[in-house]
Amino acid sequence: MTTPLLKDLSLDALRDALRHEGVAPYRAEQIAAWVYARGVEDFDAMTDLPAELRRDLGDRFRMRALEVDALAQSEDGTLKARLATGDGEVVEAVLIPEERRTTLCISTQVGCPLACSFCATGALGFRRNLSTGEIVDQVLRMRELLPEGRSLTNVVYMGMGEPLLNLPSVIESIRLLIHPKAFALAPRRITVSTSGVVPKIAPLLDVAPINLAVSLHAASDAVRDVLVPLNRRYPLAELIRTLRELPALGPRRPIFFEYTLMDGVNDSLEDARRLVKLLRGLPAKLNVIPMNPHPGAPYRPPPPEVAERFLAELARGGLRTTLRRPRGRDIDAACGQLAGAASSGRFVKTSLRPSEEAVRGVL
Ligand code: SAH
Ligand code: SF4
Repeated sequence: MTTPLLKDLSLDALRDALRHEGVAPYRAEQIAAWVYARGVEDFDAMTDLPAELRRDLGDRFRMRALEVDALAQSEDGTLKARLATGDGEVVEAVLIPEERRTTLCISTQVGCPLACSFCATGALGFRRNLSTGEIVDQVLRMRELLPEGRSLTNVVYMGMGEPLLNLPSVIESIRLLIHPKAFALAPRRITVSTSGVVPKIAPLLDVAPINLAVSLHAASDAVRDVLVPLNRRYPLAELIRTLRELPALGPRRPIFFEYTLMDGVNDSLEDARRLVKLLRGLPAKLNVIPMNPHPGAPYRPPPPEVAERFLAELARGGLRTTLRRPRGRDIDAACGQLAGAASSGRFVKTSLRPSEEAVRGVL
């Protein structure tokens, strides 16, 4: 049996494991502070723990789940990393520095089983779920790449995979992200994106007042069935009804809808009107993202004037809408282009530990 990964344990589980060994439960929070708040991964450096406990922990647990395997930096500052798991899989995470915030986009699965027809990750098929430790290790590895003076402000679960098909690990990772002794992020700084796994939406939002993003992409079942095959199982009416019935949502806590605009597929005025009708009465914020073309999908972004017409129609219908500029397009780091090994062409291989100067200089 392989040595368990410390970061796979919730704080409760760590507390129980310690108690079992006769160690005071408050030690769990001390350990969490070292690992998640300070990014210290060497038990020997955890100076406020008794030497014997440090040794025990070192014998019983593995610490690192992922290693940065390759990096690609975009002209706009976006930094994509390919991260290798212990069993030789790869996932991607993307740092998006902006003026007032720094967002990290993380993965939840190796590949994705939902096979949306426009998505590069979907074209990979499904390999496996990431564990809690592998999800939070993306935050630790990527945080180490930030230049001095910049800190992580937002985390979005919009990388590879469908978070709601890996709900237990995603929930535990969120608990670590928001725990005051661990990453201490405010729940409103966290966004989970789903393609619409209806029965898992309410259980996710029960965990904490995080943001929900729903990948809509179409306002009719006929089109959505083709773009998001999961729609055949959970059609639009059911998805929207579930969202309407969510407790604790109001104007101050919108639901984000993502709409990837594809030339001649979902960009007509009629599509816009249907969308307005579909979302009427919901605390909706719509993000329209022009399709990022890639060889694995037969779709293109519409010409700018078509996108403008579409947006104008949404505005006329009173829908709160933003047009998203795709970040990191030149390195395939934009939405839906995360494809692990398949996109290795733009990566620069690195054997450097992220703390080394050369890598720090990348951002
Ligand atoms: N599986 C989840 C989260 C990961 S995908 C989901 O589908 O919501 C993150 C976002 O990128 C989704 O909204 C997805 O639909 C979108 N996306 C995927 N491929 C894209 C592409 N080629 N161009 C633009 N957006 C894309
Ligand atoms: Fe999976 Fe999301 Fe890609 Fe669909 S868009 S295949 S759900 S990662």
